Amino acid sequence: MVYSEMLSKKLEGADAKEGDRISLRKGDEEYVGRLMAHHDFSAPDILILKMSSGYNIGIRVLKDSEIKVLERPAVKTVEREEPEPRKGLPNISLVSTGGTIASFVDYRTGAVRPAMSASELVDAVPELRDIANIKTRPLFSIFSENMDIIHWQKLADAVAEEINAGADAVIVPHGTDTMSYTAAALSFMLGDVPKPVVLVGAQRSSDRPSSDAFSNLMACARFCAEGKAAGVFVVMHEGLGDDLFSVHIGSRVRKMHTSRRDAFRSINVPPAATVSKDGKVEYLTELRAPSPGKAEARTAMDDGTILLQYYPGMDPKVFAPIISGSRGVVIAGTGLGHVGEPMCRVLKDACDRGIAVIMTTQCLGGTTNMNVYDTGRDLLSAGVIPVGDMLPEVAYVKLMWALANSESVEDAKRMMTETMANESGNRRCLL
Ligand code: GLU
Repeated sequence: MVYSEMLSKKLEGADAKEGDRISLRKGDEEYVGRLMAHHDFSAPDILILKMSSGYNIGIRVLKDSEIKVLERPAVKTVEREEPEPRKGLPNISLVSTGGTIASFVDYRTGAVRPAMSASELVDAVPELRDIANIKTRPLFSIFSENMDIIHWQKLADAVAEEINAGADAVIVPHGTDTMSYTAAALSFMLGDVPKPVVLVGAQRSSDRPSSDAFSNLMACARFCAEGKAAGVFVVMHEGLGDDLFSVHIGSRVRKMHTSRRDAFRSINVPPAATVSKDGKVEYLTELRAPSPGKAEARTAMDDGTILLQYYPGMDPKVFAPIISGSRGVVIAGTGLGHVGEPMCRVLKDACDRGIAVIMTTQCLGGTTNMNVYDTGRDLLSAGVIPVGDMLPEVAYVKLMWALANSESVEDAKRMMTETMANESGNRRCLL
């Protein structure tokens, strides 16, 4: 909710911004405090001030109330020099993107902001410098719900540049909400990347005692410093305590809980490795060894790709135009890979028009199998392509990439059935 017109004008007139120390005169009363962010639970003519006591108060502003700015917070910029590299330690580049791991709670306004710089993040965990020579490269400072194709492309280019400039590993601090999309995008864009590229996040911001930012970052650095595996990975807490961390394959991982520290799970495969708090790395699957080769980023993406979850009652009138306007569609179908009859007709029509129609399952665990029921068989004969145990969002990112990096839609469809970055093909299908 925004301020009322009257209050917006008053704030604009006084040039008052969040964080400013202001005076609000209302009748005979004067209130002095820091201007806080206006939130959805406050009426439009309420101003929230943080008083010197630390308490926030809401004051209803009247037409004849007066607002004056008394003081602006100083903006501090601290230039930090990277310390001299130490011989014998691996070189790790930290390319930061934002998210809770690089956030702090702004006690003036009460909001969590993605504002901790990459070097501040490293300085907050001095032990990192005992593990590796850390070079920081701030790339974005955003929450991950704001990541889009252009961010993925810039990130893949930056990671490849760091590797080609001599990094033995690249760590990417990232918001957790869309971390698995970015991990999938990097997995396809960077292909057989010769070094470890590891995304890491936090569920609690770095200034809270319960923060997982530093422990996740340490585990991530330890995995990178071992230098035994190349590829794109995600490192996060394995359990609720600070004693074990999981290394997930970038194309097989999902955020499964909104707030728990152990929110990330490998889906349909075991985690690639675990890292204990004292730094012991245990490998649970066979991983590609790092090599001295160059990294190459193939970043083209087709933005005419869509991802839809089927639900009972999905209205073909609403979705037929959306699907027919796309170049490719990924469906998170029910069970083994199904949609109801009216949507079957829409998908058949899309296949006839040369649109790539890819079927995944909203069960997440297990694999599509469209040979079992009539619905599946009908969809198969219409040209729908099932992609086994690939996660819907991974199939979506892969389809964007495949359509932009192939000669034809047919070629892209073939790529969808081939495993390129460990994204599919586990027969045991764990969850
Ligand atoms: N929604 C924010 C993001 O994904 C914060 C969540 C987080 O980083 O854990 O960037």
